[in-house]
Amino acid sequence: MGNIVGIDLGTTFSAIAQLDENGRPVIVTNTESTEGGNITPSVVSFTGKNSYEVGRNAKKMLGVDENTFSKFKRDMGTTKEFKTSFGVTHTPLTLSALVLKYIKEFSEKQIGKFSNLVVTVPANFSSEARDATMKAAEKADLKIQNIIDEPKAAAIYFGSTSGLSDKGKYVIYDLGGGTFDVSVVEFNNSEITVLSTAGVARLGGYDFDLALQKLVADKYEKETGEKLAIEKDDKGNPPDFTINDAEEMKIVLSKRESIKEAIRGEGGRASIEITRKEFEEVISTLLSQAELACEECLDSKNIKTDDIDEVILVGGSTRVPIIKESVKKVFGKEAKELGNPDEAVALGAALYSAFKADSTMLSTMQKKTVEKIDKIEDVSSVYLGTISLDENQRNVNSILIKKNQKIPCEITKSFYTASQNQTAVQCTVTESGVDEEDPDFVKKVWEGTLEGLPSGRDPGKEVKVSFSYGDNKIIKVKFKDVESGKELKADVELNVDDKQSDNVDLDDFTID
Ligand code: ADP
Ligand code: MG
Repeated sequence: MGNIVGIDLGTTFSAIAQLDENGRPVIVTNTESTEGGNITPSVVSFTGKNSYEVGRNAKKMLGVDENTFSKFKRDMGTTKEFKTSFGVTHTPLTLSALVLKYIKEFSEKQIGKFSNLVVTVPANFSSEARDATMKAAEKADLKIQNIIDEPKAAAIYFGSTSGLSDKGKYVIYDLGGGTFDVSVVEFNNSEITVLSTAGVARLGGYDFDLALQKLVADKYEKETGEKLAIEKDDKGNPPDFTINDAEEMKIVLSKRESIKEAIRGEGGRASIEITRKEFEEVISTLLSQAELACEECLDSKNIKTDDIDEVILVGGSTRVPIIKESVKKVFGKEAKELGNPDEAVALGAALYSAFKADSTMLSTMQKKTVEKIDKIEDVSSVYLGTISLDENQRNVNSILIKKNQKIPCEITKSFYTASQNQTAVQCTVTESGVDEEDPDFVKKVWEGTLEGLPSGRDPGKEVKVSFSYGDNKIIKVKFKDVESGKELKADVELNVDDKQSDNVDLDDFTID
């Protein structure tokens, strides 16, 4: 029997789950951290040129130490630089790889090597960000069999706890530490389809922490007449009230109506009281943004609130009590709590991992679990096309794969050579958020040339273009000259900049 594993590589917290022998998904706990725990902060703190910490210890250094980084997932697929004072610059890809390596090491110590691994990504992740996630795993010496969208993983977990034969539409409301994602997922005779997604890229518990930190500083200043330092100063002295302090306070306010804390700063010691009401006021514009995204998610696919059977809360920040009120306001019904909102995605990923694994890896009980997940469907989140000449010899972008097309899929379209004695065809793969004809407004994600076509031919020779959009949302393309049989094939490396696959070798690093 193999180790069937799923990892939720989160913006602020990550989690890993395994399918136990009885076919139930269970969290692999982090025994490395002194506090232990089911979730591990996605924070990397460099302690030297080649040494680093991940998790709770690293998180303690946030906002205090310049070599500590978090929320790099927001920049996945870009070349954003994270500079350390040790002379090494990291990309979001490497930082994610370090988190994965840490998770791999503490997990393998307990359960042994992974046999089948699924990693989750946000539904709105670009192709570059998905590809960067795959590369990060490779860098951490992990083989990812599949990636799956977070709302689908959460839906699978929900389905497994409530019986997958359910028919209906469900909202997966995922408010985490750094981002807000809302999706409508349809269950239909154990088929699961993501019908619509929307979200706010920079809205999560961290933004609540910032708002609360500012509220505390304002109150302190009113009380003492002095400013409270909430950022480290020029000399590198830590703040009086850190972002971690604010987060702890916020978590208490999820349980209690008010909290009183002694805060020390320039103006001496002051007793500051914050009520839940006051906290709710300072996050009210953030809540409105989330509500707008929910409406967009429904409206864009013409889904009515009456069509929704259940709203499922995912993500640690859904523990903030006012979230349930906000959900009720938008969807007109009580939200459903899973009890473990920050684990649902990883648990669903472990189930999906079993679904994707070779059945020889599974125990009888595990096979029973898999049988319940009959067929899982996903849709493309972008338009994919190619550039050709129209009858007026103008370049136009032609869509092959439409947004919301069910995937995996393979789509073939015929184009024709345009000039006399044409011996080469320029081949392009484009990506766009809308159905766009103008090549100037789409992103070229790949270009190549189909060369060596027979000379002396008339125009109008058929060139078949096929796009195959696989499970991992990585696209295999083929441009084929039908008459000569000549073809150009590529696994489209979706625009991952070379700089992103930087030269940092993880083998050089040791975990403190
Ligand atoms: P991710 O965004 O990485 O998916 P999670 O879903 O684990 O992360 O959510 C993390 C966020 O949840 C953090 O901002 C954390 O402060 C917040 N959170 C966790 N527990 C509570 C709680 N009891 N009350 C309020 N916020 C909480
Ligand atoms: Mg999450």
